Amino acid sequence: MASNNFNYKSHVDLNDFLKINPVLGIIFFYFVGYAKKNKLPVLVTSISDDAPNRKSDTHKTFRAIDISSKKWNDFHINRIVYRINSMYRDFGTGPKNKVKRAIIHHDSGTGNHFHIQVNRLAQIED
Ligand SMILES: [Zn+2]
Repeated sequence: MASNNFNYKSHVDLNDFLKINPVLGIIFFYFVGYAKKNKLPVLVTSISDDAPNRKSDTHKTFRAIDISSKKWNDFHINRIVYRINSMYRDFGTGPKNKVKRAIIHHDSGTGNHFHIQVNRLAQIED
């Protein structure tokens, strides 16, 4: 098996990948491809697992994935956030009256990470 740049924390349940919103899957694998091309790691730290102080239910409803940004530099952090929000903003979500986002880079108490998210209506077009 060829080595790759995609890994996950031990508490992440891989079965959750079978349950995620398909549009979230597309965005996630775009992220994986970007990281691979730039030799950056993708360490998934959370899909549906319950963390305290969650502000929304995007994780619980399989509409969000967290990825550590520990080994990413600011250039690539800003670039991937810009790219994903440019392409997928319509599928993003966020507080009312604020610009929707499909990816956020933040520290919500568990360390700096990317939070990729989609809204409830996000689906593959036919
Ligand atoms: Zn998150």
